[in-house]
Amino acid sequence: MTTFWAPRAWVGDGVATGVRLTASADGTLAAVETDATPDAADDRLDGLVLPGTVNAHSHAFHRLLRGRTHADGGSFWTWRELMYREAGRLDPDSYERVATAVYAEMVAAGWTSVAEFHYVHHTPDARPYEPAHAMERALARAARATGIRLTLLDTCYLSSGFGSPLEPAQRRFGDADAGAWLARLSSLRSRLADDHPEVVVGAAIHSVRAVPVDALERIGAELDSSIPLHVHLSEQPAENAACLAATGLTPTALLARSGLLSPRLSAVHATHLTADDIGALGSAGATIVMCPTTEADLGDGVGPARRLADAGARIALGTDQHAVVDPLLEARALEHGERLASGERGRFSPVELVAALTRGGADAVGRRIGNLEVGQPCDLLVVDEGSARTAGSDPGQLVLTATAHDVTRVVIGGRDRATRGTHTDLGPVGDLLRKAVLA
Ligand code: ZN
Repeated sequence: MTTFWAPRAWVGDGVATGVRLTASADGTLAAVETDATPDAADDRLDGLVLPGTVNAHSHAFHRLLRGRTHADGGSFWTWRELMYREAGRLDPDSYERVATAVYAEMVAAGWTSVAEFHYVHHTPDARPYEPAHAMERALARAARATGIRLTLLDTCYLSSGFGSPLEPAQRRFGDADAGAWLARLSSLRSRLADDHPEVVVGAAIHSVRAVPVDALERIGAELDSSIPLHVHLSEQPAENAACLAATGLTPTALLARSGLLSPRLSAVHATHLTADDIGALGSAGATIVMCPTTEADLGDGVGPARRLADAGARIALGTDQHAVVDPLLEARALEHGERLASGERGRFSPVELVAALTRGGADAVGRRIGNLEVGQPCDLLVVDEGSARTAGSDPGQLVLTATAHDVTRVVIGGRDRATRGTHTDLGPVGDLLRKAVLA
């Protein structure tokens, strides 16, 4: 047993004082006490303790593009060409190296779980790796080295657009058809169940433009209903226009017709939606993964997060291409986008923003996670309440003033994983990233 004591911690839907957290040997919380006085044996956490945060959308290797895509303007589509160039160079060793550095960056910033939307499956000439699943096992090793809880979403990616085969740069992402993808996913699940039981394996449909209609229907009928399923949804108006032209439906309506809207679905971005789309996603109880810093960086637009939440959807957050890896800035960007689009403040309350960072991502990663409560993992971050950014803030509003620079300590499964930007096992995160990105 390890006991932590904090002057303030986020328990339930607000700030409790004098909080003692007892972690059992298996890393779960055995007791949560409030109004407790510290004991000499307690490990004291100096600051506001938040539950560990869930990064519900990541492509680890996109970190290679940070700060290198801003010279010539461009659009989502020109950014994508640069991304394909990086994807084309990856091998299992470099993938593991960059994912390890990026997951360490996440942990030091306070993200304690991640959903990795993974599609670089095969060799650059589109052959399966031997031994099998080399790229997926590289991600699992990276997560294990950093301590982050990984949900690995193996992605179905079959076409470059409606009725168009994969382009050369996309061929290593693909499988022959939905049946081949389902078989590879099943093989991956058994392999990781043996080697990496800590990893949750889920599934993803890259987007409606990348998976033909008959394949969507087969996935709707055959994919194990117990695992998380993610999809990039309506990130760009061009995707909506192509879907309407090919099927007469919006992407959301096409997913609904294919039997894919359900509480296990996480729709990523959901930027350009109709009122009917919002109603359908809400009444299905889907999770919406907003990635506000990426959506701003790529000029995607501002999605209707408030309306989706009001319709019944659960809101989670993700860092996607990692232009920013900072849970507090991601949450703030969600609210700031709403303010800029609506002219109103407080579209999401601080309580709702903390929920989006924590338990809002639980279904997306397929774990019971996101609250400081008995039986959940002892995953937490400590936020400095007295920094240049946070001094004077009401602790209940710290999510709107702190940044990852104020995250002084990160614990996952009851174990220290990072302190002030340095990973406990791997060292300063900046050094790791320099080696990975400049290699
Ligand atoms: Zn994405």
